Amino acid sequence: MSLAQITARIRAAEAAHGRLPGSTRLIAVSKVQPLDRVVAVLEEGHRLFGENYVQETAGKWPDLRARFSGVQVHMIGPLQTNKAKQALDLFDAIHSVDRPSLADKLARLVQERGTAPEMFVQVNTGEEPQKAGVLPADLDAFIARCRAMDLPVQGLMCIPPEGEDPSPHFAMLAAMAARNGLSGLSMGMSSDFEIAIAHGATHVRVGSAIFGARSYG
Ligand SMILES: *Cc1c(COP(=O)(O)O)cnc(C)c1O
Repeated sequence: MSLAQITARIRAAEAAHGRLPGSTRLIAVSKVQPLDRVVAVLEEGHRLFGENYVQETAGKWPDLRARFSGVQVHMIGPLQTNKAKQALDLFDAIHSVDRPSLADKLARLVQERGTAPEMFVQVNTGEEPQKAGVLPADLDAFIARCRAMDLPVQGLMCIPPEGEDPSPHFAMLAAMAARNGLSGLSMGMSSDFEIAIAHGATHVRVGSAIFGARSYG
């Protein structure tokens, strides 16, 4: 599907659910995609991208940022604590603040720099043992901890369990954000971004629907 078609579907979902036009930002998830596909989307004028890996981003985006102005790259994958510093150099936002050790490290680095990217706390709404994210029951205390360290948190992020109806997860994330006074909601992927918009998503993360299937390997 083309970028224009995805954008049209986003605008239609906003209209259908009483959302302001343009109130949902489209993060084009370019991880492991061939460079020519990424360049094609940049040439169409899109400027907001998502990546999962620090190393891949370091190899790809400095050059693309030099070629195209106004690019923003958001980290949406798990972040190792020992790569936090490099991540702050590479990314305009981090959607995967998912544990106290990472929050502590980011808070220290942000204090040193005096600037911070946008931060989203990842919530494990399905309480899946193999999945990253703060458990719903621990979230309010986690956000309080971040705020006490002056780590600015703008929103929440989730990845609902595969094969389940995502709606209850999106609704839960929206309720947790509202209760904590957070305006950002990073939720919805290729298969469910319209449902996420219905529940108030401010950032949808769409990869394969824009770029085609990813081939790892
Ligand atoms: C890869 C990825 C996406 C994009 O997934 P698609 O199904 O290709 O749209 C979105 N969010 C996260 C966290 C991802 O890792």
